[in-house]
Amino acid sequence: MKLRDAAKRVFLIEIIKGLALTLKMMFTPPVTRRYPKEKRAPFPGFRGRHAFVRDEKTGREKCVACLKCAVVCPSQCITISYREQENGARILETYAIEAPRCIFCGYCAEVCPVCALVLTETYEYAAYSRASLYFDREQLLRNWDEFASQLNTAAYFNKFWRLPGIALGKLPVGKRLQKPVPVRRPIPNSGEISER
Ligand code: SF4
Ligand code: SF4
Repeated sequence: MKLRDAAKRVFLIEIIKGLALTLKMMFTPPVTRRYPKEKRAPFPGFRGRHAFVRDEKTGREKCVACLKCAVVCPSQCITISYREQENGARILETYAIEAPRCIFCGYCAEVCPVCALVLTETYEYAAYSRASLYFDREQLLRNWDEFASQLNTAAYFNKFWRLPGIALGKLPVGKRLQKPVPVRRPIPNSGEISER
């Protein structure tokens, strides 16, 4: 045994070092959070629960049943049905996202030409049954209402509406013109904003 190792054993150097570290950590603030009491704000661009943006004018979703989101979805977890009018316009009949199969790539929100679909920052939606994570169009609207009611601002702008690295002129018209969505209705003649 070397002299240095012997000295370490005699003077219990390693134990003293360990105790010193314990003492130091007792006065160091914890790096963990007391979730769910302490909630962390999601980072910009976080992709959470899906929602249909509620159109302020109609009170309904803006989806035009173009099927782009269903085609681009790598998990094939979006199903849509529609009927066609005589003038060729499509009327959305059913829309569903099977969230447990979603990989949150964000392609559906990126590709949507009318900015109807968003991935919100809501991350607390664990459920006891898979069925409650199949979002139909009504549930998607409710998801939006819930998300919008928790926002601190009166408007919401989704980062996927303006894709980085793509010239504005190359975006579909719906995306080019897209402005932040008001998430609370203005009260007429009062200048105030109402909660939903
Ligand atoms: S985020 Fe990706 S996987 Fe999920 S529904 Fe949209 S396109 Fe499909
Ligand atoms: S891409 Fe947008 S408009 Fe087209 S079907 Fe999907 S949600 Fe509807």
